[in-house]
Amino acid sequence: MSPNGRAPLASLRRITTSRPEPVVGERCDMCAEPIGEEHQHVVNLESRGLMCTCRGCYLLFTAENATLRYRAVPDRYLAFPEFSFGRAEWDDLQIPVGLAFLFWNSALDRIVVFYPGPAGATESELPLDAWQRIVAANPELAHLHADVEALLLRRADLDRGREHDEFSCHVVPIDRCYELVGRLRSLWRGFDGGQEAHAAIDEFFTMVAERSRPAPPVAEEATP
Ligand SMILES: [Zn+2]
Ligand SMILES: [Zn+2]
Repeated sequence: MSPNGRAPLASLRRITTSRPEPVVGERCDMCAEPIGEEHQHVVNLESRGLMCTCRGCYLLFTAENATLRYRAVPDRYLAFPEFSFGRAEWDDLQIPVGLAFLFWNSALDRIVVFYPGPAGATESELPLDAWQRIVAANPELAHLHADVEALLLRRADLDRGREHDEFSCHVVPIDRCYELVGRLRSLWRGFDGGQEAHAAIDEFFTMVAERSRPAPPVAEEATP
């Protein structure tokens, strides 16, 4: 593993290779208690792996500012109705498809971008100045929690070749992003994903839109 880290892919590989077949009799990765198919996850900050957990183990790692090796993935969805983002910012990301996830990797101390494709996720690091420009235009993005949440960016109508650019942004739990990437990997056809992949993306966005509440102004939360 290189010092500047290909590590996030470890968790992606794990989930993309282990997701397709539901595991019978799944157990908590921490205490081995049996858990249901629907369960919560904890990120191992060192290995970047996602661990399937029972409720009890999950709750051990929900403290936001704790300096722990593990961090619980919150079940939180935020929308940014006033999202200020345009073609120039999108081009900075160098994403060939209409969808990208950004998350703050605290081990690397920088923003990592990944996007779906036929091989699972492709990952790159976002230049810090590009990220700073995005945050300067959208201070509410400071709500994003490192390692456990991702910003989901979508460019509308890219596949239909329309010329108007419309971008949306949400905060989503990072385990959901990995699940979507794993699902898209098996559906992806051609360069832009094809019909089935787009249907899966649409379904994902419907779920995200239903669960999202607008991000509050940053001033409402004390930021250190
Ligand atoms: Zn447990
Ligand atoms: Zn799991």
